[in-house]
Amino acid sequence: DSVGFAIVGLGGYALNQMMPRFAQAERAHIAAIVSGNPEKLRRVGDAYGVPTDARHSYEAFEKIASDKRIDAVYIVLPTGLHAEWAIRGFAAGKHVLCEKPMALSSADCERMIAAGRRAKRKLMIAYRSHFEPYNLEAMRLMEQKAIGTIRLVRTEQSYRMGPTSPGENWRTSRALAGGGPLEDYGIYGLQAALYLTGEMPQRISATAFRPAGDARFAEIFAHVSSQWLFPSGAVAQLATSYDSAGTNFAQVRGTDGALIMDPATSYAGQKMRIESRDGREFTPGDPDVQFARQLDHFANAVRDNTAIKTPGEMGLRDLRLIEAIYASARTGRTVGLASDGSMLG
Ligand code: NAD
Repeated sequence: DSVGFAIVGLGGYALNQMMPRFAQAERAHIAAIVSGNPEKLRRVGDAYGVPTDARHSYEAFEKIASDKRIDAVYIVLPTGLHAEWAIRGFAAGKHVLCEKPMALSSADCERMIAAGRRAKRKLMIAYRSHFEPYNLEAMRLMEQKAIGTIRLVRTEQSYRMGPTSPGENWRTSRALAGGGPLEDYGIYGLQAALYLTGEMPQRISATAFRPAGDARFAEIFAHVSSQWLFPSGAVAQLATSYDSAGTNFAQVRGTDGALIMDPATSYAGQKMRIESRDGREFTPGDPDVQFARQLDHFANAVRDNTAIKTPGEMGLRDLRLIEAIYASARTGRTVGLASDGSMLG
């Protein structure tokens, strides 16, 4: 009863990370591929044994509707295309697994959720850290108050992007990537700040910067940082950049110690320790299982009608917070938030 996936978009993440991991999944397999490149369809289709009548161009996507071998579509396209293709997936009667971030606006997220409800199909956002042993252990430790009461959270996700322009690289195009590093990479820190504290912020203030005369940042921001206040009184600082040396960490400081995750949400190589009087290093498992477990979680939800840990509603919540961060950066004012993340006033 394995779930058949149509992979939509054969880019770097699909080809190098997700497609090879289907072999490790128990209940998921690649049933079809969709790409704009006929040569890639042939080469990738042959490599994964995809039947020739299940290799489609984007124009022929709707043919999957009548194909009983396909239960779900996995959207691995540039972010600005997620909403359109998720909605087309539902229109074809399929369940939808959508890469992060869910879309570029909360309005698009709402359209995607509504389309899934109308079609009575599942929608999951591919937030792989929810299936990764280090992050799962970190959530458990924070719930058990392993460092006392949480006071401070810091996250940073950065790398230095090579010379490029919006025409060459979708990650620097506003239409396809929104404001840039926050949606793409900083979202891991945003997610960690939420799942490690178990709270939603009630106030956000932010700064976003775009240097003049740099083709990389003609349309997107180079750096975005924000400061959050949670109802408990805990405070978070999040920073993300496409123009500083690589990092990906999350730190939580409580009354009795600190949780240090560095790197926090990588594909592999996670490190995690607690700094306190009886501090210790944690090695809860191989991060590599996150990819296949994510696929099986979605497959179980499709087959057994079980709840999804990272549903469209979570993706929507995160887009609301991203919108609040940009609103504060734009206006220079602190933004107040309702408990669902929507802006007050
Ligand atoms: P990529 O540039 O490597 O691949 C994008 C693919 O989309 C390419 O095959 C490209 O040909 C295709 N495409 C179709 N229409 C396009 C258009 N109009 N403009 C540009 N490309 C178009 O990107 P990627 O790194 O594979 O990212 C794809 C998605 O996966 C993004 O949403 C990204 O956020 C997500 N992603 C997630 C993770 C993760 O760890 N979960 C990691 C990387 C990327």
